[in-house]
Amino acid sequence: MKKPAICGGTPVRDTKIFYGHQYIDDDDIKAVVDVMKSDYLTCGPKIAELEQKLCRVTGAKYAVVCSNGTAALHIAALAAGVQPGDEVITTPITFAASANCALYCGAKPVFADINEETYNIDPACVEALTTKKTKAVVAVDYTGQSVELDRLLAHCHKNNIVLIEDGAHVIGTRYNGKFNGSIADMTTLSFHPVKTVTCGEGGAVLTNSEAFYKKLLLYRSHGITRDETQMEHEPDGSWYYEQIALGYNYRMTDMQAALLISQLDKLPAFSKRRKEIVKAYNEAFSKLPQLVVQKEIPESDTTRHLYILRLNSDRLTIGRKEFFDALAAENVCCNVHYIPTYCFPYYEKLGYHRGLCPKAEKLYEEIISLPLYYAMSDQDVQDVIEAVTKIAEYYKA
Ligand SMILES: *Cc1c(COP(=O)(O)O)cnc(C)c1O
Repeated sequence: MKKPAICGGTPVRDTKIFYGHQYIDDDDIKAVVDVMKSDYLTCGPKIAELEQKLCRVTGAKYAVVCSNGTAALHIAALAAGVQPGDEVITTPITFAASANCALYCGAKPVFADINEETYNIDPACVEALTTKKTKAVVAVDYTGQSVELDRLLAHCHKNNIVLIEDGAHVIGTRYNGKFNGSIADMTTLSFHPVKTVTCGEGGAVLTNSEAFYKKLLLYRSHGITRDETQMEHEPDGSWYYEQIALGYNYRMTDMQAALLISQLDKLPAFSKRRKEIVKAYNEAFSKLPQLVVQKEIPESDTTRHLYILRLNSDRLTIGRKEFFDALAAENVCCNVHYIPTYCFPYYEKLGYHRGLCPKAEKLYEEIISLPLYYAMSDQDVQDVIEAVTKIAEYYKA
């Protein structure tokens, strides 16, 4: 049996590999430079071009791009009409922004537990937690696998609840043959560098509803309109505009939009490579009883943003922290997604406490996010598999 580097053995590789990394090519660079030489750095033609492209790529009717995925969640919650007194149901296994967007609107986040095999929000828990105050559900496609949209949508629409899909991980995934982004009431995207496509910082909301679309445009840009049909007063002249709601400056720049347009050309290749890596990991890890492979639902043809290694604690003599540190000693640098949101001190001070979602808390104790990104070589993938296998075998219970 090979000795792990953490106990003095030789690491599987000499150079560090990280859990995520963007891929930027010369086309991406040229696209940004072209904008910098043009007349518009923001509010220019690249914004509409990107929005049309996102609609083509996802099948959504409307797209509103904005400064980041968190801003996308905020304007989606505002467009859904979330306000003080309302409740918003979401999962704790997500980045904090999925729940924070409810707090931004003065509403109360309510945490629903996850399905213990897919790790996505459990529709039965959403149904059980629904009250007259429930205004929206923020369902996160964790790791890129689609949430159970059919059941969630049926429940939401029956109860007059807006379904916001936090699709920060989901671009490229299809649910029952249709791209995510064209199904829920609104779907938010993030273009942070660790996500599948990036423009540095960026986000978008996709929707098929014209009413939501108009509200999203307002909230993205100060609540200001130049559309006469929305105005309360007669225009003084052609310069005239009105502020009719309290919005924000959540706009994206044209440099970012150009970068994302160029990145989207590579999405099919990004998707293909991520699927190959996930397949190689699944094949290797499903053979080891010390490890648990995330269940895939047949409805979701998944482009994975994250690969979650779950430890089978009963079959290992070490815990997650020791496993994580042992991988780092092999130069395989991982991450953990996510700490359940309500365990953060800010949420504890709001009155949330451990024990709310036992399946989510158990998952958090057992997971490690392995390297997964387009530019990983076959050797990188083999190194990760070798490091994980070495540690899992050495510390077998
Ligand atoms: C990344 C992420 C966000 C936030 O996106 P930003 O662009 O970083 O603001 C929200 N939700 C989830 C699930 C994410 O992974």
